Amino acid sequence: MKQSFTISGITIDVTRKNVKNLNLRVYPTEGKVTLSCPRMLSYKKIIQFTTDRLPWIKKHLQKAGVKKDVREPNFESGDEIPVWGKPRELQVEEAERPRRVLANGAGTIRLNIRPGNDRVVREKLLDEWYREELKREIPLLIKKWEPEMNVSVSEFGVKKMKTRWGTCNIRDRRIWINLELAKKNSDCLEFIVVHEMVHLLERLHSKRFYRLMDQFLPDWKEREKLLTS
Ligand SMILES: [Zn+2]
Repeated sequence: MKQSFTISGITIDVTRKNVKNLNLRVYPTEGKVTLSCPRMLSYKKIIQFTTDRLPWIKKHLQKAGVKKDVREPNFESGDEIPVWGKPRELQVEEAERPRRVLANGAGTIRLNIRPGNDRVVREKLLDEWYREELKREIPLLIKKWEPEMNVSVSEFGVKKMKTRWGTCNIRDRRIWINLELAKKNSDCLEFIVVHEMVHLLERLHSKRFYRLMDQFLPDWKEREKLLTS
């Protein structure tokens, strides 16, 4: 007897047969999950059994990149992730202890997570770490450029942005920096910080704006190229 149900967006095909145990199988390439179980087992028990194993199911589905852009890493051990323009090897350790990211020098990036923590949790943890990296570097750049440009930045923030590397709220003298910049060469971050700070002197992307860019950061065009390469 066959039936199926959907849990957390995943369809599970259930086959009831003459077996003693429940047996869950994941077919990552087809994105298919099957469960065989004893004929008389209650629906409630089936749901409970599946729910308990949901992290495991998701992990195995994601291994094949089901419903995911193939270019996106799954954040497994051995994956390469970019940090300040260089690929770093990811090392994932699952254990019952606080989640955190450990980076030492130019070596690997270690991700300490809890058993079953899926791709979403891993990505979020790494994003927090990227944010901390930026929050350490940005104030140093602002401090360096404020006296050079004779402007002052009152506040800065880091966020994920789809279309822009940075923005500047001129009235509040607040700049926003795209989280993705922690993945690029650090020259790119400086270029964006300087660009946003130049807006405090010139609102528009006018001739004057680019004259100021040339004056403060003569190699800004090369840095811009590095950003889009
Ligand atoms: Zn601009």
